[in-house]
Amino acid sequence: MQKIDYIVVGLGIAGISFCEELEKHQKSYVVFDAGETTSTLVSAGLINPVVLKRFTPVWNAKSHIDSSIKFYKDLSEKLKVSLFEEMPMLRIFKSIEEQNNWMVASDKKELSSFLHPEIIKNENESIKAPFGFGEVRQTGIINTSLLIRSYKEYLQKNNKLRNEVFDYNLLQETNNELVCQDIISKKIIFSEGASVRHNPFFPPPPTSGSKHLLIPNKGEYILIKAPELHVRAMLKSSLFIIPLGNDIYKVGATYSREDYSVNTTQEATTALVSKLAKIINCNFKVVDQVAGIRPTTKDRRPFLGALNESKRKVFYNGLGTRGITSAPSLAKELYQHLENGKELHKEIDIKRYYKW
Ligand SMILES: Cc1cc2nc3c(=O)[nH]c(=O)nc-3n(C[C@H](O)[C@H](O)[C@H](O)COP(=O)(O)OP(=O)(O)OC[C@H]3O[C@@H](n4cnc5c(N)ncnc54)[C@H](O)[C@@H]3O)c2cc1C
Repeated sequence: MQKIDYIVVGLGIAGISFCEELEKHQKSYVVFDAGETTSTLVSAGLINPVVLKRFTPVWNAKSHIDSSIKFYKDLSEKLKVSLFEEMPMLRIFKSIEEQNNWMVASDKKELSSFLHPEIIKNENESIKAPFGFGEVRQTGIINTSLLIRSYKEYLQKNNKLRNEVFDYNLLQETNNELVCQDIISKKIIFSEGASVRHNPFFPPPPTSGSKHLLIPNKGEYILIKAPELHVRAMLKSSLFIIPLGNDIYKVGATYSREDYSVNTTQEATTALVSKLAKIINCNFKVVDQVAGIRPTTKDRRPFLGALNESKRKVFYNGLGTRGITSAPSLAKELYQHLENGKELHKEIDIKRYYKW
């Protein structure tokens, strides 16, 4: 039998960021990952501290941004790959009123380090932006497919990866430990993204008739080739347009709570192309399309931690639409909670849903 500190189930950004905490503190662990399409793999990978619809900061923005940029830079060095690209983000204004709202927002204490107050004039004829742009600071893009691939290779080299579906039926808990196959572990972290809905240890809805805490939210992006667009910043209007190089741009995303499959749909292509045609003036061709399932929650906050029935079975999930940005800081908080007894923020503690 192999004796370890942690089993980690799922290698999206939740699993990776928690593994990095374990490594930092010299804890032993084994990861199970099914290798199926994940949210992290198809994510746009944007690091963005601001809700650009309303010009408000995301919850805990400063701490998430500070941790995530450092995390991806350090991880790039460790894995010897380039995961993070600093890239400006421009919000396209729709009206004078939006310009004014932007300037008011940029003056607020919690947003002044993220929103540049100046209104930037549009000089690119391929973009329809008569009211110009506002620039968001401290933004960038993570190459998430490279991240998953490189991290898996790293774990494989160190004999820490089991490339298989975790079989919940094989997990047994005694007073002192968890036993699964040939592994004895102190704790298990369930970080399966939207698939946590199939986890039999996941607590039932808090009240009868209420829904599962995890709400899958499907997102699709199209990839376009647009040689005349010539954009080097991420653009945000009703969609994001993200330059990937070689005249290829990622454009999206859609949001759907009806369809839980990871198949791409014609409906999404049509909706995205129609929105895009309202933002750009030049020719473009759709060259690819991707889909993934975001693990979202009713109150738009993640859920972390364990329930009273078992302190050894720990959940790290509900990363929603911004997991790439928030995961490094959340993983730190979860680790400190589990190993040093520090309280979790009540907004993200899984216990918030349950009365004891
Ligand atoms: C289209 C789209 C665009 C997005 N854009 C952004 C963005 O720009 N910026 C941002 O910050 N966030 C973005 N997000 C959100 C972000 O991608 C998610 O919040 C995040 O990836 C969730 O990570 P996760 O690790 O919880 O889940 P996942 O990435 O889904 O990983 C879960 C892993 O668990 C594995 N697994 C599940 N069950 C088992 C089992 N029983 N045994 C073994 N393995 C199992 C799966 O195979 C998978 O590898 C986007 C999401 C989507 C879908």
